[in-house]
Amino acid sequence: MRPARAQIDLAALRHNYRLARERHGARALAVVKANAYGHGAVHCALALAAEADGFAVAFLEEALVLRAAGIRQPLLLLEGVFEAAELAEVAREGLWIVVHHEDQVRMLETTPMAAPIHVWLKVNTGMNRAGFAPAEVGTVWARLKACRQVADITLMTHFARADEPQVITTADQIECFQEATANLPGARSLANSSAILGWPDARRDWARPGILLYGADPMPAPDNGLKPVMTLESAVMAVREIAVGEALGYGGRFVAQTPTRVGLVAMGYADGYPRTVPDGTPVSVGGKPSRIIGRVSMDMLTVDLSALPTANIGTRVELWGTEVPVNRVAAAAGTIAYELLCNVKRVRLEYIG
Ligand SMILES: *Cc1c(COP(=O)(O)O)cnc(C)c1O
Repeated sequence: MRPARAQIDLAALRHNYRLARERHGARALAVVKANAYGHGAVHCALALAAEADGFAVAFLEEALVLRAAGIRQPLLLLEGVFEAAELAEVAREGLWIVVHHEDQVRMLETTPMAAPIHVWLKVNTGMNRAGFAPAEVGTVWARLKACRQVADITLMTHFARADEPQVITTADQIECFQEATANLPGARSLANSSAILGWPDARRDWARPGILLYGADPMPAPDNGLKPVMTLESAVMAVREIAVGEALGYGGRFVAQTPTRVGLVAMGYADGYPRTVPDGTPVSVGGKPSRIIGRVSMDMLTVDLSALPTANIGTRVELWGTEVPVNRVAAAAGTIAYELLCNVKRVRLEYIG
């Protein structure tokens, strides 16, 4: 069997969820959209079901998978609904929905539903992507309140730059939210992972931790005690020596300056490992630090075994996880851990804890 796999540590996931809730000091919706950032939404939600206050996904179809798997907790659709027809299912399954633009308000006003639903009214406090302008919030709140089909209204916003501790815009967004919602009753929710970790002023009734649940710290100086959940690993499948001047792999990007012992590893960009990483990107081979050499191919990649004479066919290779932080690979690839984790595919997901 091909040795490529992603091991998912559910005990680490629970540890991170508890840490989020302790830091924030209130209830927390575990964000399991995009198949729990590549970790398997059903497994992750079931692992948290005994303690999570609720869950959040992006849209209806993601929620239905969780309901079908027996998740009965509150379950919020972060994008809300796309068409009125979805509201019947939202009511039937007892889902919560974000309302972030005018069409969604009108759908609620004009669609009869079997049961009233809980809505999260989204305020645009400066990200300028989704949500109502601060000046509109009072009017929209009153319209929602007047809907027979609306049970409860939570007020929310989302930060653009909470992962940058020195940047003032997060404080501005908090203040903007305060002013826009000062006279409105109901629960509040501001904080994503980086705000939970870095912005105590953003603490309210509900947090919405995503990436931190999976142990990839979004803050620049991470010392928050998160545990990595996914370990992406494979093994050496062949070994060869290349001589000085010989090129390795597509494009001949790596050229040996000294005799180089090359390990061929069963992992490629079709598995979600980023093709964009340069030579020197960290990997761990048999528990020891090594580096990517040569371009990543679809099914394989190559690592430097020159300093690891005992590494051989079958030696375990960790691409990221407990030995190689996924943030380091993301930085090498010019992206963020979110994207790498979401992109994992084709490899087996194996659960422990
Ligand atoms: C995805 C998402 C989150 C989680 O963000 P993280 O940075 O992963 O913690 C929170 N809130 C909203 C609205 C989201 O879309």
